[in-house]
Amino acid sequence: MNAVIPIKMAMGGCTDAPVLRERGQREVFCGLTGIIWLHRKIQDAFFLVVGSRTCAHLIQSAAGVMIFAEPRFATAIIDERDLAGLADCNDELDRVVTRLLARRPEIKLLFLVGSCPSEVIKLDLSRAAQRLSSQFMPKVRVLNYSGSGIETTFTQGEDACLASLVPSLPPAKANAAPALMVVGALADVVEDQFVRLFAAMGLGPVAFFPPRQANSLPSIGPNTRYLLAQPFLADTAVALEARGAQRLSAPFPLGVEGTTAWLQAAATAMGVDADRFEQVTAPARERAESALVRQRVQLAGKQIFFFPDSQLEIPLARFLSRELGMLLTEVGTPYLHKQHLAPELALLPAGTVLSEGQHVENQLDRCRVARPDIVVCGLGLANPLEAEGFTTKWAIELVFTPIQGYEQAADLAELFSRPLLRRQRINPKSAPLSLSKTLVASVPGA
Ligand code: SF4
Repeated sequence: MNAVIPIKMAMGGCTDAPVLRERGQREVFCGLTGIIWLHRKIQDAFFLVVGSRTCAHLIQSAAGVMIFAEPRFATAIIDERDLAGLADCNDELDRVVTRLLARRPEIKLLFLVGSCPSEVIKLDLSRAAQRLSSQFMPKVRVLNYSGSGIETTFTQGEDACLASLVPSLPPAKANAAPALMVVGALADVVEDQFVRLFAAMGLGPVAFFPPRQANSLPSIGPNTRYLLAQPFLADTAVALEARGAQRLSAPFPLGVEGTTAWLQAAATAMGVDADRFEQVTAPARERAESALVRQRVQLAGKQIFFFPDSQLEIPLARFLSRELGMLLTEVGTPYLHKQHLAPELALLPAGTVLSEGQHVENQLDRCRVARPDIVVCGLGLANPLEAEGFTTKWAIELVFTPIQGYEQAADLAELFSRPLLRRQRINPKSAPLSLSKTLVASVPGA
């Protein structure tokens, strides 16, 4: 495998690259989708969506939980009577919550999750959360956030959820020593690997937000140095900084290079010396580099096109181009947070086509002209593109799968090589079959 280019040697980059800004029809899931990974992360939280049957259907089918399995999410359905203003939604909501908490005493944190319908009828869930919190505290904290699909994309559900939780974080003691906090939901297996690496560097205890238990909320204050583990947490970052926390700027922990730079940012801020850092990270780094060799053979020289979907697109593009030799035809992202993504943009190959926002028909036209080997897109686009002969990767799978850190670097690469291999097996002379226009189902949000 070619050696990973050390960050200090990166030339060019896309720091000041022009960004094509698009507004038009979008093909994304809504923020309710975040419940699927958040309910697994915070193990004593419950997510009550206040929405329609469509919302219930989305959550139930996306999460795929069997009905006898006592899930930790549900939908309080707003029906025609509520929409017509014939019933008092607040009274009904109070009844539903009271019944739920009586039946499920293990719930310690309840999120009322807003949706398109609750926003359309202007149901004030923040007042409902305050009212219910004062009724059920200290046993159960009740918070609210919006998961609606109006002008949002699906990873914003996590951002809104975590931002709503920040005011509940206890204040750190004045004059406390600097403390590290990792922000963004990570799979437990990934979190445990990072805990071990930080501990071996002599850093710790390191707080993770969100925590696994609602009553283990980390304290926060001007001594808090936080590292974002996900690139889609703009509102959470604002809320943390309003409490005095300071963000450590770093690429995101995808791939060997991203993980090393991310860990390095923490080590530098917390005063870990260079030798110790090297000693702790070298074995995992070398293991990950050699695991990537096989993937590089499959992926080097292949062209990839990103439709805007998960907000992970820029860190993924950086990993795939620099560590696996893939060629970036277009990197689209729903929102481009220039400050949080600055270290990533600096590492992208100069001249990369970047786009922000979505005008799906224009992007489909550009994709058809580019004829990439693989397209990363949402579920609504994947089937029509496959029917045209393109190989696709569902963006949402990248959020559900543990992909951060050294041990996951090769698994992450394999998520891209597998569909290419499958296509090759089905059709050894594989190439996009047609450039004809496909009727793409237009279902904004849901
Ligand atoms: S986009 Fe659909 S599923 Fe999502 S909140 Fe709106 S109505 Fe519910």
